[in-house]
Amino acid sequence: MSIHRKSKHEINLMKQAGNIVALVHAAMKDAVKEGVTTKELDELAYKIIKANKADPTFLGYNGFPATICTSVNEQVVHGIPSNEVVLKNGDIISIDVGATFKGFVGDSAWTYPVGEISEEKKLLLKATEEALFAGLEHMKSNDKLENAAGAIEDVAKKYNLGIVRQYGGHGVGRVMHEDPFVFNYRTNNPLVLMHGMTIAIEPMLNLGGDDVIVLNDNWTVVTKDKKASGHFEHTVHVTDEGPEILTKLL
Ligand code: MG
Ligand code: MG
Repeated sequence: MSIHRKSKHEINLMKQAGNIVALVHAAMKDAVKEGVTTKELDELAYKIIKANKADPTFLGYNGFPATICTSVNEQVVHGIPSNEVVLKNGDIISIDVGATFKGFVGDSAWTYPVGEISEEKKLLLKATEEALFAGLEHMKSNDKLENAAGAIEDVAKKYNLGIVRQYGGHGVGRVMHEDPFVFNYRTNNPLVLMHGMTIAIEPMLNLGGDDVIVLNDNWTVVTKDKKASGHFEHTVHVTDEGPEILTKLL
């Protein structure tokens, strides 16, 4: 495993990349509504990223055909934007955004409600966001990655939610996926965090069981029991003082 710790200059570039990702999310929050297609959301995200002199990190990544991942209801991650997917009242949609600015990547996902959603979906979103921030709290020098994983696991258990096992967080910066991998549950990982590490924390929690499958498009990950899934992600810089979230507005 090789972990790239970032210099002050590199962190500054990552903040700019993260700011562009945050701009896209600010626009998504307003744009997500009944009747909108996920393709329209994708086009809007592309325009914002390009207008800010950055590149959509996901577009072409291992052949991914779009700027953002749009995962509706039981879709967990990696949903492909489409003219055929029209948002309906009561849906939830995870939007995952990556932007590369001057060679550095910001990566952040958020799950948005469409109109009025059920009480259980509200709980799912609240709990998954809580799990994200519980994990982020441990992004501090000399803390352990395992403590972040455990904090996420504990929130999932508190709300009796499934935890997606096959996907998780990751180092991020010069490329989208760097070491270390971040499980969303305890694995006895001995890694001690050091300042300069930049990590994407991204819990994916389910209203049903843990199990997921990949659809025939070879991208879209869905829950096996078709119950809804939530996904929240921030890119964070580990510092001696604690977490510095890089994917928020400057
Ligand atoms: Mg992401
Ligand atoms: Mg990520």
